[in-house]
Amino acid sequence: MAVRKITEYPEEVLGKVGQPVTKFDAALAGLCADMFETMYDAEGVGLAAPQIGLNLRLFVMDCDGIKLIAANPEVIFTEGEQSSHEGCLSVGKVPAVVVRPMKARLRAQDLKGEWFERDAEGYAARAFMHETDHCNGKLFIDHLPKLRREMLVKKFKKEKTWK
Ligand SMILES: [Zn+2]
Repeated sequence: MAVRKITEYPEEVLGKVGQPVTKFDAALAGLCADMFETMYDAEGVGLAAPQIGLNLRLFVMDCDGIKLIAANPEVIFTEGEQSSHEGCLSVGKVPAVVVRPMKARLRAQDLKGEWFERDAEGYAARAFMHETDHCNGKLFIDHLPKLRREMLVKKFKKEKTWK
């Protein structure tokens, strides 16, 4: 296992629609182990493949009691609304309030390629949507109104130069 380098906004791979996962083999299991290690190292609750530079529809998460690997994820049902802070390891964890559905149902494949569905509420539902967005080349800042998005990007770039 190894901690991988996290790609940061505005790296191109973060804006690309990911390629489907087609091989459910030992290499995929190894990749997911690296993704978990990278995520824990960065103190995140979710990490998608584009965040380590891979154009793949794959994410791992460990959030609010839900720990899973999702290949070819889709959010197939949402309900309600929640408004709270959200951040992303690829945007320096600079948070912003994002409005999202309160509940979400995820459909994805596990390491063996078996399809599963999982329901979540609140924070974990937010993670389902945030990570599935990554697989579609979308970042949480894309959900923000233009002015707020520009402010956040400015703040992120400023923080980056401090490091
Ligand atoms: Zn993210």
